[in-house]
Amino acid sequence: MSTCYYLIDQDDRIRSVGGGWDEFAMENGGDGATSEAILGTELWQHIHGVDVKSYLNAIFFAVRISGSTLIMPYRCDSPTQPRQFFMTVASEQNGGLRVDHNGGPTRIEQNQKLPADISEIKPQTKCSICCAVKVADTWLDPFVLPDALDAPPGLYVCPTCKTKASKVTRKMLSLTELRSTRPSAPHIH
Ligand SMILES: [Zn+2]
Repeated sequence: MSTCYYLIDQDDRIRSVGGGWDEFAMENGGDGATSEAILGTELWQHIHGVDVKSYLNAIFFAVRISGSTLIMPYRCDSPTQPRQFFMTVASEQNGGLRVDHNGGPTRIEQNQKLPADISEIKPQTKCSICCAVKVADTWLDPFVLPDALDAPPGLYVCPTCKTKASKVTRKMLSLTELRSTRPSAPHIH
């Protein structure tokens, strides 16, 4: 089980990181992602792809407005092992957020239907959240694909992950709105 976290302030600047951050960063992002390199910088400098930025931004917005904690599952695979992770986003004082990442190795379902001519096709895009790759209009788990298929970098968010995030953030925001607009009990004189 690997775990690490970061704290950002109201302007999305990285205030601190902890847990096994440096170990995790070296394993997954290289030198550029170590705590020394990122402290005080804006989080968005380190997030790549408009889709991924929008996804995270929607989650951060919903957590800040509602004050509720949100846990989103995602995949953080190593080259040889599928890994299931969870991102826990909690609001802190003064508009800050604490974002925890934890997870570990997982198993995947092997019963996904592959396109017949799969060896001919190169995956076009990869979802940064669930690691699915798009092959001939179908989003597939990379671990069901033949090894020879190189997955592109995960700069996108697949339709399933987008829908999940938009449903959960909309629900958080509508509950918050309900709370704030609910009329107070009538006064009895
Ligand atoms: Zn996805």
